[in-house]
Amino acid sequence: MVSVRYNGRTLYDWLLQLGASDRALDLASAGGSFSVAEVACSVIAIDEDPGAFLAADAVRRRVVARLEHLPVASGTIDLVVCNHALEHIAELMPALDEIGRVLKSSGRLYVAVPDGHGLCDGLYRCLFEGGGHVNRFRRDEFVRLIEARTGLRLARWQKLYSSFGYLRGIPDLPDAPDLQARLQRLRRLPRRAIYAAQAVLYAGTRVLDGWLKTSSAIYGWAFWFERSAAAALENPPYVNVCLYCGAGHPPDSGTRRCEVCGRRNRWWRI
Ligand SMILES: [Zn+2]
Repeated sequence: MVSVRYNGRTLYDWLLQLGASDRALDLASAGGSFSVAEVACSVIAIDEDPGAFLAADAVRRRVVARLEHLPVASGTIDLVVCNHALEHIAELMPALDEIGRVLKSSGRLYVAVPDGHGLCDGLYRCLFEGGGHVNRFRRDEFVRLIEARTGLRLARWQKLYSSFGYLRGIPDLPDAPDLQARLQRLRRLPRRAIYAAQAVLYAGTRVLDGWLKTSSAIYGWAFWFERSAAAALENPPYVNVCLYCGAGHPPDSGTRRCEVCGRRNRWWRI
């Protein structure tokens, strides 16, 4: 079993079990959900936006297509990856049907989505005026939906915590005429004010969750589905998420260096 260490690494768990003759689909992949250099299987990345592939690496096979019409033969895929994608898909039901169609009988599905009723996603939708999120998910409803449309069963799941990292990118947004009005104003704020707001939200939500047993620091969930899962297991969450690169780390205390980018963060136990 591959060690799952970071939020950004959780999707490698099943990917690294695939061999050279296996096939994985990276759906609504944008610039790529994972590094194909780290996996042995063949990878097909599918996105409906041709611009999504501008920054993609050169190894994978890239296909521009809509998720409700996957240009893939039935029963030929070993693993489908939907990493922070399904909240963007308007034609969700036919897209889920397509996932069930293309998977082999032994096929698996990894999905990560935001909690559509949580603080993190709510703030994102407010600041980015929707930000392309057209679906709001609740955990249990989402699991039932995936199981019903794909024929898979939930095997494991994990809470994903937030660093409110989308705030950090606001000062670097281009001054484009089609940028949302709120972001036009926010991007003019001093950079240190945006970073301070991120740090306050990060610490404040974790203090609140520890005190009131709320879930304000949670971004969403990762789910692992397969055909013949027994009772679903919960992976322990990484409550600490690097402010700078978004990598998740286990509960800890004090100031620690991020194991991915090396920047120093204040870590928490909740
Ligand atoms: Zn980092």
